[in-house]
Amino acid sequence: MNEPIWYDDLEQFLLCPRRFQLDKGTIERSEAPLDSSELLRFGFSVERPILEAEIFGVRFIADPDLAVLEENGWRLVLKKEAKRFKQKYAVEAAYHAYIFSQRGFPVNRVTISSPYFEVDLDWRDALPRLISLLENITTFREELYDPRPTSLCKTCPHVIECSEALIRKKDLLAIHGLNERTRAKLLREGIEDLEDLLNTQKLKDFSKDVLEKLKKKATALLERRPILLESIPALPEGLFLDIESHVVAGYDYLFGILSGDEYIPFLCEDKEHEGAVFKRVIDFLLSKDGPIYHYCAYEPTHFRELARLHGVESDYIRLRKRFVDVYQILSRHVALPLFSYSLKSVARYYGFSWRTKLDGWRACKYFQMWLSTKDPSLLDTVMKYNEDDVRATQLLVEKLRSMGFNETLRMSNVTAKESR
Ligand code: SF4
Repeated sequence: MNEPIWYDDLEQFLLCPRRFQLDKGTIERSEAPLDSSELLRFGFSVERPILEAEIFGVRFIADPDLAVLEENGWRLVLKKEAKRFKQKYAVEAAYHAYIFSQRGFPVNRVTISSPYFEVDLDWRDALPRLISLLENITTFREELYDPRPTSLCKTCPHVIECSEALIRKKDLLAIHGLNERTRAKLLREGIEDLEDLLNTQKLKDFSKDVLEKLKKKATALLERRPILLESIPALPEGLFLDIESHVVAGYDYLFGILSGDEYIPFLCEDKEHEGAVFKRVIDFLLSKDGPIYHYCAYEPTHFRELARLHGVESDYIRLRKRFVDVYQILSRHVALPLFSYSLKSVARYYGFSWRTKLDGWRACKYFQMWLSTKDPSLLDTVMKYNEDDVRATQLLVEKLRSMGFNETLRMSNVTAKESR
């Protein structure tokens, strides 16, 4: 393992060790780390100090937000935006403090600082957990960890190969939407894998319709092809909408619309202007006809809240029946050989590729960096990411159309849980 490991990598490993294995060596680092030991030796307080240490034969890098020399040793500060303290900060504190101590800069305490709280930690409490984590991450393992479907998969680029890995094992976890409870019920009835499911004629705890649907999903997986569950409604020409939200500042900073082949971004640089930008978006949507396609429930749900907040409820009422959730149509009408039906997973399955490596959270970080630097390349990347999302949604509508349709479209089908 030549690449040094950063704390972000450790966090990734905790969430999905398989993803860490698959991404290893492909993670882009914008700058080579510069060792800060000279400055620290002078006793200066250092912002974003970098120290590297070899642990279990692997290079690890500590990069806390601040290091300050105090009477009894160093104090490290980790800055956060979260409203509440999270237990996982204890391992992060131990990580940076352990590397500092290994390099001869003993750490007395670590402060977790956010606009909402400040907590001082004795980092040694989390040391046993950290050491076992470092042992795990540095242990060479030839075989890949098994896929572990979680919410992280929604934006992961490896869904297709992880689905394939689950299908090869005929694992029930490959079925989209199969929760632990349903899986346990199937196991209780002796259904241990996808083939058992296909060979079953009757189940005590499942209606005939539900069993038929599960069997179609199992067939789609084992035969690696989409299967129609129900006939697809007609999907007229329309607009495609995707919103990017600033999770920390609590407002929507980008409303991206695809109209015909034209991508139209509505950008909002601060919370104060959200109302004015939102009204321009509403006016634009009202000036056009046809459905407003989106993926999952966020857009219409949020439009309702914004309309109430900015006093344009009557305009929203005129729009609300035009919202069409493509995820709802897809998951109800089609079984795919995938365990995740997130926009990223399904569009990639149909050959779409994103021009950036962002996800919603990283896009927000890029936008925040653009606000402080005004570097146009940052905003350009965010726009590309948003444009690709609406173009991916458009591609899925085209794919659904190509599967044929017999029903009349019911708009405003926004009851599903957020699923991306
Ligand atoms: S798709 Fe899910 S299980 Fe597979 S690597 Fe990505 S996060 Fe892990």
